[in-house]
Amino acid sequence: MKVSPSIEKLVPYVPGKPIEETKRELGLDTVIKLASNENPLGTSAKVKEALMGALDSVFRYPDASCFELTQKISSRLQVPPDWLAFGNGSDELIDLITRTFCEPGDRVLMSEKSFAAYTIRAQSARAETQVFQMGEDLKIPAREIAQYLRKSRRPTDRVLFIANPNNPTGTYLNRDEMQEILSVAGGWDDFLIVIDEAYNEFVRASDYPDSLALVKNYSNVITLRTMGKVYGLAGLRLGYMVAQPKITQWVQRIRQPFNVNALAQVAAVAALDDGDYLKKSQEAVWSGLDYFYTELERFGLPFWKSQANFVLFDGLRSGREIFQALLKKGVIMRPLANYGLPRHLRLSVGLKEENEAAMRALENVLATVPEGSGV
Ligand SMILES: *Cc1c(COP(=O)(O)O)cnc(C)c1O
Repeated sequence: MKVSPSIEKLVPYVPGKPIEETKRELGLDTVIKLASNENPLGTSAKVKEALMGALDSVFRYPDASCFELTQKISSRLQVPPDWLAFGNGSDELIDLITRTFCEPGDRVLMSEKSFAAYTIRAQSARAETQVFQMGEDLKIPAREIAQYLRKSRRPTDRVLFIANPNNPTGTYLNRDEMQEILSVAGGWDDFLIVIDEAYNEFVRASDYPDSLALVKNYSNVITLRTMGKVYGLAGLRLGYMVAQPKITQWVQRIRQPFNVNALAQVAAVAALDDGDYLKKSQEAVWSGLDYFYTELERFGLPFWKSQANFVLFDGLRSGREIFQALLKKGVIMRPLANYGLPRHLRLSVGLKEENEAAMRALENVLATVPEGSGV
């Protein structure tokens, strides 16, 4: 079949291995999945109740304007309603941004070892990509990006994606580092800076930038948020963007009228009202991360302090081999060879028992697979 060359060279996204598939393939009864950064606490009881109440109405089309949700987030974030746009997951907004603002051949900028959707969505919009390399710190190279934009910016450069905190490394840009980029490119009217904050609720660092203030100060900055991570709605698909209306109006124009389904809207309003669930989720993640740090240190495995709900570590052996050996013990982690990290894995925080089981399994695997094996 004749296919567009930019689609032909597209490397598909590899999702975390599903629980049911793992059970089937390996004949296991229980499987712990710590591979997709989902909320381990399960669906909030308040969200379930709201969803039950909404079931009778699913024969109707959803509210195309997401009215109630818009009101809620607008007052929560203190931004006008027309500064918001919603998507079927923030994944869809990444797609809408590239399709709205890029011509074929325009350039989309991103760091390596960052969220895979940026590359995939840019390529499906027939855009070119420019990828910046990371240093040993596995941080998004803010200085290099700022320097490039200052000295060698090309007229076709259109969008820069920055995941902050970054997935899959868990590292973040602080206020000064973010400002380095903005003091060069903030306010350009033919170039967008997208700050993807899928994990912002997990950040503990005190010098994390306030991206909403940046949206107010710079006409070309977009903040992306999702209800899929800390709010526990990954399966319902809901994300939103905050930006000035001269950006949101175009995204509103191109999006499908019913891109956010009725249940997602109801669930999101309920989730935003469930402060206890949010607090419990944050506490579970923070104590889980601290536990992982202690254990990884005990195993002698290098890791990168994380501002998200997962941690990246160097297994000092083939990540693929560790991944396979863990699977046999019923633990799914995320190998990162396709991000140029052949020895590394990304581990999401689960429930306390799940975290402990995962560390026992990992300790076991490290004892059976010799260091340096397969790399
Ligand atoms: C998970 C994730 C998203 C996608 O969130 P959805 O709303 O579920 O589509 C976006 N960006 C980053 C960096 C993520 O890790």
